[in-house]
Amino acid sequence: MNWTNFHTHSHYCDGEGHLEDYIRKAINKKMFAIGFSGHAPVDFNSYWHMKKESLDEYLKEISDLQNKYSKYIRIYSGLEVDYIPGIIGPENFRERQLDIIIGSIHYVGQFENGENCSIEDTKEEFDRGLEAIFNNDIKKLVGTYYARMISMIRNDPPDIIGHLDIVKKKNHHNRYFHEEDKWYQDLVTEVIKAISDSNCIVELNTRGYYKGFTREFYPSKWILEKCLKYDIPVTINSDAHHPDDIDNSFNKAASLLLNIGYKHVHIFDMGNWHKVSLQENGLEI
Ligand SMILES: [Zn+2]
Ligand SMILES: [Zn+2]
Repeated sequence: MNWTNFHTHSHYCDGEGHLEDYIRKAINKKMFAIGFSGHAPVDFNSYWHMKKESLDEYLKEISDLQNKYSKYIRIYSGLEVDYIPGIIGPENFRERQLDIIIGSIHYVGQFENGENCSIEDTKEEFDRGLEAIFNNDIKKLVGTYYARMISMIRNDPPDIIGHLDIVKKKNHHNRYFHEEDKWYQDLVTEVIKAISDSNCIVELNTRGYYKGFTREFYPSKWILEKCLKYDIPVTINSDAHHPDDIDNSFNKAASLLLNIGYKHVHIFDMGNWHKVSLQENGLEI
């Protein structure tokens, strides 16, 4: 159906499949647009970011494919950029003239050896960081996560806020915290207020849900309800790491948004973001 997805990862970073595989799949599914958002290169060791030397080739391939498939689908260039204050952020990639920058927080704090602590990779790393960096105080870890997000929104705003509440990824069965807790809701509310003062768009990211990492989408329903209250624009993305996931759970995401009261989503097209009408089985474009 007439979907768009601006959050996809190919073999250039930690995804499977070539860019063209994604495009063919998207055309098969009669999607309106697809955006590529490889993990932007970083200056530290990482197995899941794009290599610095691949970036030019990645952008060139996107541009070639735009020409090749221009009759069939809109194709947009982008990166998912980590925000680590003083180390990396969307501003490092603005000169590349990308169509879309997704800004994401995957790390909070550093270990003594200078290694960044990921909050969404393994539970072992999460636990190690919680103990070594945050003295086993989950409020401090979560507080740092959302403080980083606010800093990104205010100082280096991306087009899209990536998976807003991915800090819940390891929180199965409320192992670390309850989303109903006031301290947690207060932190998220501060983020939503910051977003409402910016031009950032929030993505409803279906990946945690369809991979079985989380019970709900990123972000949770109550957060989306709050976003609507603050009139914050949303877009639906699947954070696909395989072409088969290009529209995974989009119908469910659309019904959730409609159920909450969202009547529109935002899509990128021809250099700008536009508001389009949302239906359960696709967008009215
Ligand atoms: Zn991410
Ligand atoms: Zn991603």
